Amino acid sequence: MPPRFEGLRRLPVLKNESFRGAFRRWLTSQTVPRLVVLGVASYLVLALTAYAIFGGNACAVMLDGKTVAVAADEKSARQALSEVLKQKYSQAGGPVTVAGKIAYKGIKAQPEELLDQEGLRSRFNESLTFNTKCTAIVVNGETKVFVKQMEEAEALLAWLQTLYPVEAGEQPAIKEKVELVKANAAVGSILDLETAKKTVLLGTNKIQQYVIKDGDTLWDVARAVNIDVDQIALSNPGIDLDNISIGQQLNLSKEAPLLTVVATRQVTVDEEIPYEVEVKKDDQLLAGEKQVLTEGESGERTVTYLITRENGFETERQVLYQTVIREARAEVVVTGSVTMLASRGGSVRLNWPCSGGITSPFGTRWGRMHEGIDIGAGYGYDVVAAAGGTVISAGWEGGYGKAVQISHGGGLVTHYAHLSSIEVSNGQTVERGELIGLVGSTGNSEGPHLHFEILVGGEPRNPVNYLP
Ligand SMILES: [Zn+2]
Repeated sequence: MPPRFEGLRRLPVLKNESFRGAFRRWLTSQTVPRLVVLGVASYLVLALTAYAIFGGNACAVMLDGKTVAVAADEKSARQALSEVLKQKYSQAGGPVTVAGKIAYKGIKAQPEELLDQEGLRSRFNESLTFNTKCTAIVVNGETKVFVKQMEEAEALLAWLQTLYPVEAGEQPAIKEKVELVKANAAVGSILDLETAKKTVLLGTNKIQQYVIKDGDTLWDVARAVNIDVDQIALSNPGIDLDNISIGQQLNLSKEAPLLTVVATRQVTVDEEIPYEVEVKKDDQLLAGEKQVLTEGESGERTVTYLITRENGFETERQVLYQTVIREARAEVVVTGSVTMLASRGGSVRLNWPCSGGITSPFGTRWGRMHEGIDIGAGYGYDVVAAAGGTVISAGWEGGYGKAVQISHGGGLVTHYAHLSSIEVSNGQTVERGELIGLVGSTGNSEGPHLHFEILVGGEPRNPVNYLP
């Protein structure tokens, strides 16, 4: 006989007993089917209550098990993600995939936690990584740059080798080991060809540019951004940095280029062998006077060099073989001070602070660092500002004797020592070529001369490289 449900019997009336006893008496009075129904009903009540407390009214979008966003329902979450995928597809120019595993899970959320379509899209954009197929440029085993197409990577390498002016007989090649590898990378990390070129050239994607203003020297720019002049040259191939003009744009990067274009060539030239100058001191001669005992004569030779250039700069000049046609003959002079002349070079143009030859060069002499040059000039000769600036020190400076320091801005300071008199005062503005003092021999000095220093950021530099 099938069980029949005949309703629950009434709760018994309490007859002078505990509620527990009455309940047990009532329970045992029920039939089995009735108890089953009672159990199911109780379960439903509990389940509904649990759902109301713990159940979902929203959809969590999970990336590898972590909630990324909460949407009203799975459909709207999927719709927003597919919008973003479409947009990434057109950005990447091809199919994209989400890095990691996406899952949807029903949860209960407060209304203010739910993101609308726009909110979902921007959340996906910022929290998910979208990968696409691309080409990696791998330099010495390290992935450096992603471009979309293999052809773009090939074009970049070809472009790089045409970037630096090629001399006759040079065959440019890339120094580093470069591999072009098919890869899968985040859409945002894939560079367009122009950006990729700059990245390879400047060593970075974050390119700072500088527009030359009226009155700028290359040195000013270099100081302002704390990059040395050689590095600026490296970042601006093909630009003649000795002739920068107002409005010109320079790339500024502290990074080395990612790739090095090496070109070598052999050159055979007839060249002079410079003669050396032997200086003999003679106390009979006044400072600045000299007497040539033997005229110097240049020699001549035919030399074959192997010249190596990297990114347009000569890095090595190796003598492969040479034939001496005529040996040089040294010049012998007798002097009270004297005679090496300054050479050209450097980027800052200063003028000579006084006339005269260099009697002692910059650098180490007799085991001591000579932080400037000595210019052999007679007592009382004019000393002028090497460039316009502000006098930051004028007075006695120990071993320097009477001395003047002029700041030219940006950390460039010129220093004039052993003066017999000072014609400027501290804080005064001076023009290029303006008289600042007279040559003397004050302080630690053996005879009248001008000791001249150039300091860049407090570091002494060879003035010869800054003088015409
Ligand atoms: Zn000196």
